[in-house]
Amino acid sequence: MTAAPERPGDLPEGSPRAAGWRSRLAKARSALGERLGAALARPDLDAGTWEALEEALLGADVSWEVTEQLLGHLRAEATQRRIDDPGELRSLLAAAVTETMDAPDGGLDRSGSPAVWLFVGVNGSGKTTTIGKLAHAEVAAGRRVVLAAADTFRAAATEQLAVWAERAGAHLVAGDPGGDPAAVAFDAISHAAATGADLVMIDTAGRLHTNHNLMGELAKIRRVAQRAPGELREVLVTLDATVGQNGLTQARRFGEAAGVTGAVLTKLDGSARGGSLLSVRAELNVAVKLVGLGEGLGDLVPFDAAAFAAALVGDDEGNSDVRGA
Ligand code: GDP
Repeated sequence: MTAAPERPGDLPEGSPRAAGWRSRLAKARSALGERLGAALARPDLDAGTWEALEEALLGADVSWEVTEQLLGHLRAEATQRRIDDPGELRSLLAAAVTETMDAPDGGLDRSGSPAVWLFVGVNGSGKTTTIGKLAHAEVAAGRRVVLAAADTFRAAATEQLAVWAERAGAHLVAGDPGGDPAAVAFDAISHAAATGADLVMIDTAGRLHTNHNLMGELAKIRRVAQRAPGELREVLVTLDATVGQNGLTQARRFGEAAGVTGAVLTKLDGSARGGSLLSVRAELNVAVKLVGLGEGLGDLVPFDAAAFAAALVGDDEGNSDVRGA
């Protein structure tokens, strides 16, 4: 078993890593695993096997397009390699999932002084929790971090971010309730520049993603974050994995308003819809950069395509791997 290679932009060395993908993806795995196991245990590779495989993937919330893409790839490989034992398809499927999810731009860009990361996504998708976990890891790695509470519409949002800032050892910049979110972002970036901080993470409002004003606000925050002294490096959309395919519509909207550079898939630990992750990469053409595997400080891990595929699909014996943990 090999350790996952450290990529530039991965969470810093020494940051808390989750215990393993396998146990954390239990629900997603069992959703796919049972049907997949039945399909791969069939004696012959026939039309029924392909149908059973298709059902298994669709049942785990893999989109129709991605399912067809994966199976098309698998069929070609099976023909070329003259495979007649369905069991041999497992490792090919894992490889195809890895390929679908792998992204050269999977790391986080920390260049800039300060570097600015903007977080967008509907309320409840895990923005604040993700910022808290990430701030903790960055501070632990020796970076000075400023958090901007730019969701000025909910007092509770600011309070929650204040708690995370305290836990993480980051500095919090908040505004007046109901105040201009872009002004909070500007103040946080100015404060970071004046004090020599390395990184600013901006928490934003996420209610009513159909509301045009919200999208207008996000676009405005983005413009402020792009201006000196800040250097906008990441716009990360948080997607609740338990919502499955519906999350994609949200991600698209936020992408249009804020120019998303990557996705954070949260609550993958509680989701039976891990397969929806495949669509984020394939249909939105945006890299999944981080994955939330729980509510604790250490439960945010860099996305690792091979570990994800092994946890979801399993290895040749049907066991799921824990690589990348
Ligand atoms: P926000 O409204 O987008 O800022 O969302 P929050 O950060 O407040 O998260 C909403 C809820 O989801 C909270 O109860 C979090 O503890 C929970 N949550 C966030 N990320 C994860 C995760 O990766 N796994 C689990 N199980 N819960 C999470």
